[in-house]
Amino acid sequence: MRAFNFSAGPAALPVEVLEQAASEMLDWHGSGMSVMEMSHRGREFTSIIETALADLRELLGVPANYKIMFLQGGGIAENAIIPMNLLGKRSKANYVVTGSWSNKSQNEARKYGDVHIAASTEGSYTRIPSFDTWQVERDAAYLHLCSNETIDGVEFNAFPDLGELPIVADASSHILSRPLDVSRFGVVYGGAQKNIGMAGVTIVIARDDLLDQMMPICPSAFTWKTVAANDSMFNTPPTYAIYIAGLVFQWLKRQGGLAAIEQKNIAKADLLYETIDSSDFYVNKVERSSRSRMNVPFFLADETLNEAFLAGAKARRLLQLKGHKSVGGMRASIYNAVQIDAVQALVDYMKEFERTRA
Ligand SMILES: *Cc1c(COP(=O)(O)O)cnc(C)c1O
Repeated sequence: MRAFNFSAGPAALPVEVLEQAASEMLDWHGSGMSVMEMSHRGREFTSIIETALADLRELLGVPANYKIMFLQGGGIAENAIIPMNLLGKRSKANYVVTGSWSNKSQNEARKYGDVHIAASTEGSYTRIPSFDTWQVERDAAYLHLCSNETIDGVEFNAFPDLGELPIVADASSHILSRPLDVSRFGVVYGGAQKNIGMAGVTIVIARDDLLDQMMPICPSAFTWKTVAANDSMFNTPPTYAIYIAGLVFQWLKRQGGLAAIEQKNIAKADLLYETIDSSDFYVNKVERSSRSRMNVPFFLADETLNEAFLAGAKARRLLQLKGHKSVGGMRASIYNAVQIDAVQALVDYMKEFERTRA
């Protein structure tokens, strides 16, 4: 009954998580209520959010001097929330532009301060520019980057050491797909609907010493210091989305944690990229060392076959493969919840389509 779902987001969730949510829908743990219906300050929901926070801290190995917050607004709201939280003392920030999402981020930040583009591949988002070419302004408040460009399929595999200058990373589409050394960053953030859970909750992990440089105009509900001081309960948090994220964290722990899921993600990405690279029928334009393991954009060499490719895929229950409108072609998003059998079904179909249409 379930299709193979390659959506970029909102994206596939683990079946076990959906089944558990279904079984707990009407009566969560004998409370007589669904999670949607209970007070966010009650004993039941307090245990849900505390467990979710502890599991996320354990999975990612978040150091004690970082706060984990659950906010609303998604990655796009963070494009404004970040400068408003960090540009109070210094009014300038560095931005690295490696794709559509980081480009959006720098554009929004211009409303709040001076943006310095430290590096950019605008015109052809197919690589991470080598760190020694970056022109970083050291007296700025931070450097922002997008660690996985969901639309363009470009991913950072390593990060520069910028000394005192905090790195702020939009990790929306690959957070929890691989281990990440949080101590290398000032802030790591992401919306949940790619690799964590459902739309509606945004996770912000921020180093304690960065919680004191907000601009006076920053709305209270988005002021990290206020949100953190209130344990993400300054306003009503997106309770059901936090509950689902918590179920995904427990599922990830049962999978063996991030090192184990990374091995599965490498195997899935290798299978798909090898299929693309071994044929002239399919093309991926991203430099090999910068290719995303989560989002794999690819093109048919003969683009007049695009509609036929998508129709054939749909007939095989391979869904949501159409590329982002700004890029065209196809895109397969293969997040944690997408199993290798889905990728195998996709590459089998790609080979068959090539045989019959080439
Ligand atoms: C999806 C995405 C966003 C935007 O998320 P919204 O929830 O729509 O605000 C931002 N950055 C990246 C990298 C994304 O993948």
